[in-house]
Amino acid sequence: MADTVVAQPQIDPHTEQFLEQSAGSKFDFQSVSTKAAGDEKLKTAINNAVLRQYTGRQLQLLQLPDSDALRTLAGQIKQHALDYLDYYLDQLKSNVERNGGKVHFARDGAEAKRIILDIARNAGCSRCIKSKTMVSEEINLAHALEIAGMDVVETDLGEFIVQISHDRPSHLVAPIVHKDRASIAKLFSEYFGTPYNDDPSALTMQARAYLRDKFRSSDFGMTGGNFLVAETGQLCCVENEGNQRQSITTPRVLVSLVGIEKVVPRMVDLAVMLKLLARSATGQPITIYTNIFGGPRAAGEKDGPEEFHLVLIDNGRSEILASEEYRETLRCIRCGACLNACPIYRKIGGHAYGSVYPGPIGALITPLFQGLANFKDLPQASSLCGACYEACPVKINIPRHLVNLRRDIQKTHLNSGAERMIYRLWANAMKSPLLYNLIGTFQKWDLRRRARKTGGWVTEMPSVAAGWTQIRDMPAPAAKTFHQMWKKR
Ligand code: SF4
Repeated sequence: MADTVVAQPQIDPHTEQFLEQSAGSKFDFQSVSTKAAGDEKLKTAINNAVLRQYTGRQLQLLQLPDSDALRTLAGQIKQHALDYLDYYLDQLKSNVERNGGKVHFARDGAEAKRIILDIARNAGCSRCIKSKTMVSEEINLAHALEIAGMDVVETDLGEFIVQISHDRPSHLVAPIVHKDRASIAKLFSEYFGTPYNDDPSALTMQARAYLRDKFRSSDFGMTGGNFLVAETGQLCCVENEGNQRQSITTPRVLVSLVGIEKVVPRMVDLAVMLKLLARSATGQPITIYTNIFGGPRAAGEKDGPEEFHLVLIDNGRSEILASEEYRETLRCIRCGACLNACPIYRKIGGHAYGSVYPGPIGALITPLFQGLANFKDLPQASSLCGACYEACPVKINIPRHLVNLRRDIQKTHLNSGAERMIYRLWANAMKSPLLYNLIGTFQKWDLRRRARKTGGWVTEMPSVAAGWTQIRDMPAPAAKTFHQMWKKR
């Protein structure tokens, strides 16, 4: 099957535009998100996919006796592990080494890539099968391995489609949520040089046959890790396709790249996390495969690697850990529930966030990881409705942190002088009932005047407020305000 590959398809035109616009050092969220919000095809694809997961999650949580208490407990476990991270990382390291594995610490992406490439070179490996991991997307690992001459194949079906279309994932759990069946069928037809067939099982079987061949011939396996259990020195990786289990058991060298924040103290803590992860992510009681491993193949075992390496990456996490205010954000178990719940994400999709971490958690951690000055628009990408907080299995108070980031933008003067002046005037008006009523009366008169001309809807707002009506209309305000009606009664 590998020999039938004839052509490298062009990057998806939608994604190409997004990537071009996000390539600048200062990401322009405004223009990218406005364009995405106007893309009906994108909105339909995303809504169909995430609403299924969203409702699935709600139904699954009802099966638990007290899901809210379980979410509190999960948050406490992760917070405790973060508060004593140095202790648990030490314990984890000793236990992985006792299991026969090697542990490497990488300060950043460049160091992690260097370590992984050295491991591959020293072991004489050149054919890598890689399972889905967000942290490898974070440092663009697959690309680095390819540049170094390795044959790298993403084995998760969604990630494989992302790889062969030179795209980027647009969701933490469902990387191709932005693609429809027809575009995938066209992609496969071009990539494999086979007739167009959009039957999902035929497409899956085509990818399966191609990947089986790669599994058989690989010598280097790469995984991430959903959790690291300090007490036993083991990793836990969950998946639905079985490709990850192949990556863990088939190649002779296995490397797992994991963020340092993924530690949980004990196996019993892992049980709490597993009760929530799949329910929150895909609406399943548990994923099809739950892989717990750590260390090379022991004497008498039939499969498993000859060498096992755990690469623990920092890449900005210690800085977030040091700031007590934002430390809680490191609890994230990348379930994607906050994306599915978010009305903004559903309108614009993942690429508009300009980072591998989209949605509410992306709006929060991307500025923390990559600098608030580079992503100062992202904390504004929220209606602060609180749906993300409600959905989060580890109770990260995302809306509160987004407000705090907005405060930091104001304090450090990352926004314009005009914007700061408007907020000051607004704050003064809110403090004075007279001024508040005066502005309110004028605003109501102006909006009703505009709506009269356009059939009862405000379709165009003036200057600074123009963004509100860029992609949607607003109903005219009522003739009488609530205050006026209240007084009359
Ligand atoms: S912030 Fe919470 S809901 Fe969002 S991905 Fe992380 S754990 Fe899941």
